[in-house]
Amino acid sequence: MNRQADFPILGRQVHGRRLVYLDNGATTQKPQAVIDAEARYYRESNANIHRGVHWLSQHSTDLYDRSRERVRGFLNARHAEEIVFTRGTTEAINLVAASWGRNNLKAGDEILLSGLEHHSNIVPWQMVAGQTGAVIRVIPVTDDGELDMRAYAGLLNERTRFVGACHVSNALGTINPVADIVRLAHEAGAVVLIDGAQAVAHQTVDVQALGCDFYAFSGHKLYGPTGTGALYGRKALLDAMPPWQGGGDMIHTVSFERSTYAETPQKFEAGTPNIAGAIALDAAIAYVQEVGLEHIAAHEDALLQYAGAALAGIPGLRFIGQARERAAIASFVVDGIHPHDLGTILDMEGVAIRAGHHCAMPLMTRFGLPGTARASFALYNTFEDIDTLVAGLHKARRLFGMEQSA
Ligand code: PMP
Repeated sequence: MNRQADFPILGRQVHGRRLVYLDNGATTQKPQAVIDAEARYYRESNANIHRGVHWLSQHSTDLYDRSRERVRGFLNARHAEEIVFTRGTTEAINLVAASWGRNNLKAGDEILLSGLEHHSNIVPWQMVAGQTGAVIRVIPVTDDGELDMRAYAGLLNERTRFVGACHVSNALGTINPVADIVRLAHEAGAVVLIDGAQAVAHQTVDVQALGCDFYAFSGHKLYGPTGTGALYGRKALLDAMPPWQGGGDMIHTVSFERSTYAETPQKFEAGTPNIAGAIALDAAIAYVQEVGLEHIAAHEDALLQYAGAALAGIPGLRFIGQARERAAIASFVVDGIHPHDLGTILDMEGVAIRAGHHCAMPLMTRFGLPGTARASFALYNTFEDIDTLVAGLHKARRLFGMEQSA
């Protein structure tokens, strides 16, 4: 697959070198179709939604609704009302924590989180735990970077009210057995949220097949704009949850004594949303669907295999996270070179990787590391990109006096 030409930024140079962008776990680049969709919206369709009697407002509302329907189909949700637009995964999880969590958890209840979680699926729950007296427990991670499913089954009990787990770990690439996680949680009577931030760009997601109660993702990791994303929630749950932010667009009636609220999902979308972003997200998902997630997954898998073999040839390099099921991420350390130094040296070669704790400090602590270097792949990456990464790593070792000059 060679789709580099669809992404204008990939034509630019960094430090005089061809940009090799391997930081897709942080955010993906945008295809021309997405850039055009956002510009076209402002050029031709801009008006506030749900308010105007005028044509342009209705047109803008139609485009916004069409995007919601696109997201519904993308996740295979049953109803469009089950899709709440958010600023991204972080806001989606905060919505669930603030609305469902604060109103359903009480002292002594248990919140069970996977040890692979990004801070955005930890901190909101700590805040709710502080407010309600609920207790956080953690599903341990094996040396290979997989969730210990036996320990998980042992941790579930009648006090477990909520389970939170990522679909794919942003730090290690581990693909979690989400359907099993959901099934066991439901058997224990718990509600389950799956953080899909690192999954939706790499594999087909079917929320009905997974059976989860909530599923969150960010548009910007899916070739769409920043500040976009969605929360899927089962309708019965969303209907029973109170709004978490008040303002325009989320109400039915307002008086100074009391207000009544709009239906799901409007009651969770207070204020003017990122309309242009939602419409560009529609274009991003259409782009991914056109390329085909099965082709993307196969291509990224080939890249991961190729990178695995090539990186293994670098003396002193150790992979962190060797789960049997992994997606699009190679996380590693190199003996004697701090990940930040690796990142800086690679940057001078035009290679963008991520170095650090990846917003997963507890997981890094689990592996006794301050951080790792992470190369994360997208549909536009090539084998040549990986060759450039490997050459850069050899150069780093030479600069640190660990290799003779070629
Ligand atoms: N969860 C995971 C697994 C992530 O990788 C990220 C982003 N790195 C987030 C949540 C947070 O996403 P956002 O910053 O787009 O809200």
